[in-house]
Amino acid sequence: QPNSSPQNVHIFKSKLPDIPLSNHLPLHSFCFQRLNEISDRPCLIVGSAGKTYTYGETYHASRRLAAGMSAIGITKGDVIMILLQNSAEFVFSFIAASMIGAVATTANPFYTPAEIFKQITASKAKLVITQAMYVDKLRDSDSAKIGEDFKVVTVDDPPENCLHFSAISEGNENDLPEVEIHPDDAVALPFSSGTTGLPKGVVLTHRSLTTSVAQQVDGENPNLYLKTEDVLLCVLPLFHIFSLNSVLLCALRAGSAVLLMQKFDIGTLLELIQRYRVSVAMVVPPLVLALAKNPMVAEYDLSSIRLVLSGAAPLGKELEEALRSRVPQAVLGQGYGMTEAGPVLSMCLGFAKQPFPTKSGSCGTVVRNAELKVVDPETGCSLGYNQPGEICIRGQQIMKGYLNDDTATATTIDVDGWLHTGDVGYVDDDDEIFIVDRVKELIKFKGFQVPPAELEALLVSHPSIADAAVVPQKDVAAGEVPVAFVVRSNGFELTEESVKEFIAKQVVFYKRLHKVYFVHAIPKSPSGKILRKDLRAKLENTTTLK
Ligand code: AMP
Repeated sequence: QPNSSPQNVHIFKSKLPDIPLSNHLPLHSFCFQRLNEISDRPCLIVGSAGKTYTYGETYHASRRLAAGMSAIGITKGDVIMILLQNSAEFVFSFIAASMIGAVATTANPFYTPAEIFKQITASKAKLVITQAMYVDKLRDSDSAKIGEDFKVVTVDDPPENCLHFSAISEGNENDLPEVEIHPDDAVALPFSSGTTGLPKGVVLTHRSLTTSVAQQVDGENPNLYLKTEDVLLCVLPLFHIFSLNSVLLCALRAGSAVLLMQKFDIGTLLELIQRYRVSVAMVVPPLVLALAKNPMVAEYDLSSIRLVLSGAAPLGKELEEALRSRVPQAVLGQGYGMTEAGPVLSMCLGFAKQPFPTKSGSCGTVVRNAELKVVDPETGCSLGYNQPGEICIRGQQIMKGYLNDDTATATTIDVDGWLHTGDVGYVDDDDEIFIVDRVKELIKFKGFQVPPAELEALLVSHPSIADAAVVPQKDVAAGEVPVAFVVRSNGFELTEESVKEFIAKQVVFYKRLHKVYFVHAIPKSPSGKILRKDLRAKLENTTTLK
């Protein structure tokens, strides 16, 4: 489209100038570009074990693992699944995959066997790196698979038919094959439901991730960008792209240290922040809530924190203010991301400080080397300042597309290269982005994705359910929770509890239904699309619902 067409009249750019990109480099080379300079600096701190790996150790451990993966037959283009909590092994596995041109698909270890199996099947993973306690889930999914179509490696004592991590982590670096990696080769394959339907593999290339990381940390902006002396809190799960990219990869690029925490526990978190003098904390709104409200916070020294950046879900102004009083010295702000966008679309540049103060509630300005527009969903025309519409982004950081799903790719990335987010927002007079609504189906529980289509498919597989729709309901602690509208099959008795239980058995905890409303019909458009807006409107006045 020519830039003067109504679709492209209003295009928003960063307030900072574009930067030169080194996005021809493979991701691991880009992240360790300054290795010689920072080889002895701390890279990974494993909070629970009190163990630190330097940059040199992290790099070489990853290379040995890459050689070991290669020795068991993993080659360029193969997919490996990382089914681990935050750990040094997670990091080594991800980098090692990049080094041999393989692709890492990350999954939540708390997933049910069926959820894991769907991802293994869709991604065609050849190797799963996990913990012994999760192996049964792989067996439950399909016992015949273990050791046949894919290999299973455990980082602790391996059960039958599995390899111990040491069997691949002690490879000989000299045996590492020379692999030619093209910037447009895939390197990461997170799963996301995007604007509609079931979870799909999001193909992120070396180019996508090196561009996205550069957009966040390269160049000059002393207030925000990471420094070598920084210690980053990594408590958000690395299987989600926000933590993988904005915490781990950005820290590696900047030469900062990453404090790995396996799981969230407020006491341990505070103790580790104090002990390791954490300076930068990437968080999600429920974590902000804990930091803002938990009385234990007052007992710890959090004066080392200079930056708190919240993402993955909207952060309310009140919560932001409450946190401000707990860490008055720190600058606070939000980033706005979407897995398909690589994931960061916008971030605060200077937070409350010069040169770019950011308003409370804003998600900052669009990242550099990218274009953002706000589109009228009816006409497709781009909108100017202060007019809400669908947010679209264009740049080299966005996904290549969905794995084996050209239709879903084409509805998300248009012919001009614009990725349509399904988020409704506007850009104010200071170029700051505010997200106000979502036109896509997605529900976000504490920042985790809950795809309604997945729950609807499970619901209608129940013999006593004729039809169903799942929509978000606002919730103070979780942001949103999934609730279902269910049509009983003629003559069948069905209770709310039995429906909830039916779903709970099949999904990870955050996809569980919080409420079930029985209705006579699901409102649909003439083409058969669920009228989710109508159902959401019904929920706003729940007293009218039986
Ligand atoms: P995911 O792909 O899991 O990262 O989810 C992406 C979606 O999360 C976005 O499209 C938004 O709907 C939502 N989201 C992420 N960051 C923010 C934010 N700062 N404010 C509001 N919504 C957000």
